[in-house]
Amino acid sequence: MRILIIEDEKKVAAFIKRGLEQESYAVDVVNDGAEGEHYAAVNEYDAIILDIMLPKKSGLDVLKDLKASRVKAPVLLLTARDSVEDRVKGLNLGADDYLTKPFAFEELLARLRVLMRRGGYGSHLLKFADLSLDPATRKAKRGDAEIELTVKEYALLEYLLRNPNRVLTRILIAEHVWDQTFDSETNVVDVYINHLRSKIDKDFPKKLIHTIRGVGYMLKEE
Ligand code: CA
Repeated sequence: MRILIIEDEKKVAAFIKRGLEQESYAVDVVNDGAEGEHYAAVNEYDAIILDIMLPKKSGLDVLKDLKASRVKAPVLLLTARDSVEDRVKGLNLGADDYLTKPFAFEELLARLRVLMRRGGYGSHLLKFADLSLDPATRKAKRGDAEIELTVKEYALLEYLLRNPNRVLTRILIAEHVWDQTFDSETNVVDVYINHLRSKIDKDFPKKLIHTIRGVGYMLKEE
């Protein structure tokens, strides 16, 4: 899952980014409204965290334009404590939820999970064939065997499990599992697919991760 943070207070942005990365989200941060809108338009995010008071273009104007251009990612607004009017405007403009500053990271995470669940990204057990992944405990299982995953392996497997029987290009995978610093010239996606294969496929006769030659990968039963 990849999240965009549009927030000019660098400390707040860094605090959210660090927390989300520990939860294995890929995170991009931009510090003004105009650039934020551009990022939201060209990348496919699973959620957007949008501050209202921003340089260059206000969060409410960004929100209005994102909704007008049919960006699908749910939007969580960050507002100042005393700005009831902004909150109401934001909700009227199509924000999915808001959070008043200052907030605890746990609350932000809980709100984000609710938004993404509404968008079809549940925090319920993900299953495919005899493979399962529990977003709550971050443990994978193949049959009865428990499998330990690193943060990135978890993010990659989660993305595959949310998109079974679908050809996923390397670019699509990179866009949802890595952040903007990802270098598309590298073979990082293939490297992590191989890590994952050695954990979830190698010791099992039925392989689940399949290479689609020249394109990417697919989670499917043979
Ligand atoms: Ca601000």
